[in-house]
Amino acid sequence: ERAPAPLDYGAALEALLQHGTRMVCAGRTHTDRVCRFHSLCYSTEAEEFVYFHSNASVMLPNLGSRRFQPALLDLSSVEDHNTQYFNFVELPAAALKFMPKPVFVPDVALIANRFNPDNLMHVFHDDLLPIYYTMQQFPDLDAEARLFFMEGWNEGVHFDLYKLLSNKQPLLREQLKTLGKLLCFTKSYVGLSKITTWYQYGFVQPQGPKANILVSGNEIRQFTKFMMEKLNVSMEESSSEEYIIVFSRTINRLILNEAELILALAQEFQMKTITVSLEEHSFSDIVRLLSNASMLVSMHGAQLVMSLFLPRGAAVVELFPYAINPEHYTPYKTLATLPGMDLQYIAWQNSNRENTVTYPERPWDQGGIAHLDKGEQERIMESTEVPRHLCCRNPEWLFRAYQDTKVDIPSLIHVIRQTVKSKPGPKRLKWPGSLYPGKVRDAKCQASVQGTSEAKLAVSWQIPWNLRYLKVREVKYEVWIQEQGENTYMPYILSHQNHTFSENIKPFTIYLVWIRCIFNKTLLGPFADVLLCST
Ligand code: UDP
Repeated sequence: ERAPAPLDYGAALEALLQHGTRMVCAGRTHTDRVCRFHSLCYSTEAEEFVYFHSNASVMLPNLGSRRFQPALLDLSSVEDHNTQYFNFVELPAAALKFMPKPVFVPDVALIANRFNPDNLMHVFHDDLLPIYYTMQQFPDLDAEARLFFMEGWNEGVHFDLYKLLSNKQPLLREQLKTLGKLLCFTKSYVGLSKITTWYQYGFVQPQGPKANILVSGNEIRQFTKFMMEKLNVSMEESSSEEYIIVFSRTINRLILNEAELILALAQEFQMKTITVSLEEHSFSDIVRLLSNASMLVSMHGAQLVMSLFLPRGAAVVELFPYAINPEHYTPYKTLATLPGMDLQYIAWQNSNRENTVTYPERPWDQGGIAHLDKGEQERIMESTEVPRHLCCRNPEWLFRAYQDTKVDIPSLIHVIRQTVKSKPGPKRLKWPGSLYPGKVRDAKCQASVQGTSEAKLAVSWQIPWNLRYLKVREVKYEVWIQEQGENTYMPYILSHQNHTFSENIKPFTIYLVWIRCIFNKTLLGPFADVLLCST
């Protein structure tokens, strides 16, 4: 670590007394807010953040008591979770005279909560991606910034991954006590951007993709590229040999006939097939293997988030235990099918009760149901599908989620073959994204009237400006003709830059003409300014 710049303690204390705390936030509600502070303090005895008022302090937004309804902001990337709220208590700066001497933190700090650091899906989706892109949002959160995790957990099994995000060791809430009684962060950011998250875990409605996903495969892959560089895993294809990975779990939710499965996959796809697990392989080894794999096969579970390291074109095959409807649990499907992620996603479900092994006697958090009353136990045992439910302790869900499965090989190969026709495998795509057309330009119309009942409208326009620099397979134009004052319009799809409309065109009428360009059938551009045409 680089030695911190020497801090003039007297000057720092004087500045805190004079200026107090200054806060300016971005975001309109507590769920989309991230705040930037000068001189935010934290009392390790009270376990509270402290805002010091002085003549020069700033608090934007200044919410009054709405700051507690329910909070100033979410400290984790999980939306509006009531265990993850951030707030501070207020004091006059003059109170510092009676308080423990503050210890100043010189590093630019990002202060946030990890949501569930022992679960790999949560680690990537809730923490690593949001931290990475929050740091991208604020230039002074650079490689020398320091992360402060306030959720109160210990390091957790994946702490090495968090360490990759900056050059400084992240600090945990417990460790702050060893630094002093009153810590003052010279410059800090509080909260995490939610812009990259794609899944909601079912706290208020059953789990599913977020309503408004704002991330594409491109940003996910920029992040994985960063992580691979930090892990010293090269992006180069090391060898041309194609292979399939079976990512297995070794503690629970087992594949009972793994050897048979591996042989069958190898034979069907004529590829080497290997197994990895979090217990038996290092994280970097798994990333290295995944980054050149043609197919990943795994039981539903957090390890599947690592499909974000697969190359474009690879297939993700997710196996679901008996009575678990794949459509109801789609964190990995949503990831694989993000636009630009370019993965093929396949779900297989065990539909044969004889091929499942249940564990009713285990503790409740491993899916046991012995603590439930007899009637409820029987109902669960008889049920053929777990009904939709909220997170996180539904015993029927846990019971089914922790079953072991003997995979029916023919049915699995059949569903894979419905999607993967020839050999699966990495694809080197020429151009990753889909680019949208700009507005059409110089739109004009000319009317001509024939007699008292017929009229024509000749409309022409120029191609969007960006089309001059693009190779586009198919360029079409959509034109809507709307009689002024009417709610309906006549739509047309056209291939050329001019057209004479005569159907349903009346003389002595004003028409509104809306024109937009469409690339490759699906990429709809913006409408140009509406054209007013009088016949
Ligand atoms: N895990 C694992 N092997 C196992 C069971 C769990 O590697 O046999 C990992 C799993 O990938 C996750 C963490 O342990 O990162 C917690 O697993 P859990 O079953 O609680 O969560 P889930 O995988 O259902 O999200």
